Amino acid sequence: MSRPAGRPSANITVLGSTGSIGKSTLEVVALHADYRVFALTANSNVLAMVEQCLRFQPRYAVMVDGTAADQLAAELHNVGCSTTVLSGEQALIDVAIHPEADTVMAAIVGSAGLPPTLAAVEHSKKVLLANKEALVMAGELFMRTLAASDAVLLPIDSEHNAVFQCLPPETRLAGGDIRSQGVRKVILTASGGPFRTLPVEQFGAVTPEQACRHPNWEMGRKISVDSATMMNKGLEVIEACFLFGVGPEHVEVLIHPQSIVHSMVEYMDGSVIAQLGSPDMRIPIAYSLAWPERINSGASFLDLTRQAALQFFAPDMERFPCLRLGIEAAAKGGTAPTILNAANEVAVESFLSGKISFTDIPAIIAAVLAQMSCELADSIDIIRHADKQARAVARRLIAGT
Ligand code: NDP
Ligand code: MG
Repeated sequence: MSRPAGRPSANITVLGSTGSIGKSTLEVVALHADYRVFALTANSNVLAMVEQCLRFQPRYAVMVDGTAADQLAAELHNVGCSTTVLSGEQALIDVAIHPEADTVMAAIVGSAGLPPTLAAVEHSKKVLLANKEALVMAGELFMRTLAASDAVLLPIDSEHNAVFQCLPPETRLAGGDIRSQGVRKVILTASGGPFRTLPVEQFGAVTPEQACRHPNWEMGRKISVDSATMMNKGLEVIEACFLFGVGPEHVEVLIHPQSIVHSMVEYMDGSVIAQLGSPDMRIPIAYSLAWPERINSGASFLDLTRQAALQFFAPDMERFPCLRLGIEAAAKGGTAPTILNAANEVAVESFLSGKISFTDIPAIIAAVLAQMSCELADSIDIIRHADKQARAVARRLIAGT
């Protein structure tokens, strides 16, 4: 965390380029001739990857799925595109740590993003972290690896990016407890998702399509469900604790339905510094790509005269038990966040495929946490074991529902 990034980096690996954050990253990159795409990666979406390869001409394209990689290679060959196609999970790591890639956008969804993201940190890259699950499941190890490297970690999650922007410049990359710099607390804002005002009795009948229809942001399906349950904010409390070296008692969550104030930092003297902007992920992406400079993001500028109101409410933990579970896991530490994340990934997947109801999601996660003992999370083996076990327990419980 010690090395200032200097001039904006130019050679970028985008992990998860076919997703919502990956596409927004490429839109920002396309606005700036001095940013080059070194590698793109996806799981299996060949159609989107062909288009991206033709447009950005990366040196490498990785498809984790072998069949998709073969298909991509054949299609690129037919059109004379010179991008080298790789496949498999190791290839994600290879393009994340390649000496010619100086910047890595970590935008794979879920735990699959941990190995290449952690490897990029180990290899002292400038890492733009969207993949919050990687940090949540292995936060202590992740931050220790960061401290031992020359990597620069910039949060892409809009709330953490906002907090980062509101911190004193000398504190931003310092690591450690930000309260030693006069910070009293971090205030994370939350839109409240699509079900902020839906009667709780109707939660059981919510469909995946309704859960994925977010009022303010267009995102991938997994994070959209997380926003609807507010587990997203639970994960973000954990993310804030690791990134800014504070306990959950120093992280407050406020519902702010307009998604204009992206988060705030309160100082000891009573000052509160906030970051505002249109709800558009290209803003934190452009900020992090260019940091410590500023570049055009392509997002629209904020016109506060057109904003009828900016409202803030305390969250209702009864309505959103996932938020409470996230805060409790942050307080417990050790493998509790790993277990919470794994159980949530399995529960969300099962909800999206119609196996369980919306209200089963918090019930499954709570049951997995109750059944498993929490350990110190100080090695990758312990984390992998807790993750695997939590998934197995969650699947067993789901099979029995
Ligand atoms: P999407 O679902 O839109 O995209 C996910 C990307 O990851 C795709 O490129 C997908 O490839 C790839 N992928 C999926 N599974 C695997 C796997 N097993 N191995 C390798 N690659 C895989 O997600 P989002 O862009 O919405 O989110 C990405 C991350 O950013 C998440 O961690 C999310 O929490 C975080 N984030 C997102 C925000 C947003 O506004 N979307 C805001 C803040 C954080 P394929 O297309 O082939 O399936
Ligand atoms: Mg967020």
